[in-house]
Amino acid sequence: MNDCLFCKIAAGEIPSGKIYEDERFLAFLDIMPINPGHALLIPKNHSRNMLETDEATLRELMPLVAKLARAVMTVVGANGINIGINNEPAAGQVVFHTHIHIIPRFSGDGYRMWGGKEYEEGEEKALAEKIATEVETGLRTR
Ligand code: 5GP
Ligand code: ZN
Repeated sequence: MNDCLFCKIAAGEIPSGKIYEDERFLAFLDIMPINPGHALLIPKNHSRNMLETDEATLRELMPLVAKLARAVMTVVGANGINIGINNEPAAGQVVFHTHIHIIPRFSGDGYRMWGGKEYEEGEEKALAEKIATEVETGLRTR
């Protein structure tokens, strides 16, 4: 993917504030941090987002996320940390190379969590059943 920003960062063609690198992954500071220390972890292999990332890569990502999260928290003295993955524009994805946001949080930093909506009568049960069926289908066909 020649025109992918994060492929270029992974290849070292564009500089970044690198905090971790191995053969398959790179983590660097987000250029517009939600809080200082906000980092992005990417697989070097290009995929559009988490929905299109192979399972072996997904499995390797999580332990790395936890390690990086602990290091970021320690260094910036954060009180908590949000781990986020935006998939597709409707969910806020702007850069189309799989990346995980590691966002240090501070008590009273002023950010609010998302608000919740209420289900209509019977909607939750019906939806849960539909999604459970879809999950089963997905598990059978993978
Ligand atoms: P998304 O909204 O796609 O989940 O997040 C993309 C993130 O990449 C944004 O938080 C944005 O600040 C960050 N970003 C965009 N361009 C660059 C860049 O050139 N370098 C770095 N380090 N981060 C970038
Ligand atoms: Zn890419």
